[in-house]
Amino acid sequence: MTHDAHEQLEQSLLACAACHLRQDAIGPTSYNGTPYSPLAIIGEGPGGVEDEYGVPLVGPSGQLLDKALSSVGVTRDKCYTTNIIKCRPRNNRTPTVEEGQFCALTWLDKELSLVQPKVIIALGSVALKYLMSPNARITKDRGRWFTTKYGIPAIATYHPAYLLRLTGKDLIRGKWEVYYDLKAAVEKCAELAPEYTLKSPEPPDLLALYSQRREERQSPK
Ligand code: URA
Repeated sequence: MTHDAHEQLEQSLLACAACHLRQDAIGPTSYNGTPYSPLAIIGEGPGGVEDEYGVPLVGPSGQLLDKALSSVGVTRDKCYTTNIIKCRPRNNRTPTVEEGQFCALTWLDKELSLVQPKVIIALGSVALKYLMSPNARITKDRGRWFTTKYGIPAIATYHPAYLLRLTGKDLIRGKWEVYYDLKAAVEKCAELAPEYTLKSPEPPDLLALYSQRREERQSPK
């Protein structure tokens, strides 16, 4: 992948107004982390904080994701994080399968053909339904490896927003399941990209990185 090709794609994405979701969002939300990572994490779509910063998974769900990743030795700056849907649906409603298909066929497919990760983690039902099948079910299909249409192995796990709604024993069970799913993804990455380190030597200053992305988005090149 050339840096320029990825940057050009991002600039086109930031100018996208191809569907009705754009009308209610500040703008399309692009990626987070590094496009040179062998590990891609694919979420659902931006919430309020993500719409504000223009980067995926930086609000409450993203912070829980950071903690979960840290438990398996991964820092966010060393992964590529992106979403199925690029614009925040009004009132944070869950996007429909059709909205997911339209947006991901337009943007995510192009992103992944440039990034070419070795392993994909699908976060939650919307990502699973796009990457596996519209009939897939997160409760049944999480933790099972499948091959995406890109030929890249993927594993789905619960979305952190779902964990944030759980309590008691359900929360404990859910957290362990996410831990094992993420651990499996990290092990697969170690097998397929043994030279890559998924953890930065120093804890990254994520807020500084996000603030920089936010400024770049406000004054596009
Ligand atoms: N949930 C997601 O799936 N993605 C985001 O960017 C934010 C919340």
